[in-house]
Amino acid sequence: MEQERLFDELKKGKQDQYVAYRKFIIEKQHRVMKKDEVNTFMQDFSVKFGDMDMAKNVMTAAYESADVIDGPKLTICKRCGWTVAFDRENRGICSDIRCRNYTNNFTDVEVVESPPIHYYRQRKGIVQFVGNPGVIELELENECRKLGLQTELWPDKDSYDLKITFHDGESWAVDAKDYSRAFLLKDKIEKDGKAIPQSHRWEAGFIVVPDERVRENRHYTRIVDQGIRQVGQRETVRCLKFTDFMEEVKKRVGGDSFEIGSKQII
Ligand SMILES: [Zn+2]
Repeated sequence: MEQERLFDELKKGKQDQYVAYRKFIIEKQHRVMKKDEVNTFMQDFSVKFGDMDMAKNVMTAAYESADVIDGPKLTICKRCGWTVAFDRENRGICSDIRCRNYTNNFTDVEVVESPPIHYYRQRKGIVQFVGNPGVIELELENECRKLGLQTELWPDKDSYDLKITFHDGESWAVDAKDYSRAFLLKDKIEKDGKAIPQSHRWEAGFIVVPDERVRENRHYTRIVDQGIRQVGQRETVRCLKFTDFMEEVKKRVGGDSFEIGSKQII
């Protein structure tokens, strides 16, 4: 699978390389790029880390020439930043079915004037399994940094997504998940035998899901919490939607006490 090949390449690098490349891939403006822009970034990364092979291997694993798309011009989705392909009935499809609603059925799109052959786009598996789910990871990091907290993305090359350290030294481990169905995420946790690995010290763990998922299903976090209980982490880990999680972080920064074990779980 495309994303597995990419992660194999990323894991060959040191932690700072892993983070720099993965961040680059997640950023929306890098879903479709001019070929010479990609080459410039590749050179910059090679110089920064003194590792030309990794730059080349990561970029090859992540990108393909955009002329795999039929037609004289590229259409870019304004929500996910990836290419839109149209079928015979002129129905558009990009990297995420939810984009249809945000782009007025792909009528509100960007059309690129120069030919597709001049562009690279991220491979489908990369945008779907690394790029799109990563947006919330970077948002979480960004919001926590704004509060003056120390953050670390993908500690130990991805034992979880984000480590937050408060001023008194307490650490929280956060994993952002965007599963379409709560029970699929619950099953995944049960299959893994843990919600968040206790690979090194953290005091509280959180599975953070997009607000949109909870709007679609108000039982979403409760269902995931059942999975967390099944794997024996109910005392230390809970599932929250993004805005509720940020409220907890702000409360903690403000000095309010936070007791995870006291939460009522059905
Ligand atoms: Zn899209």
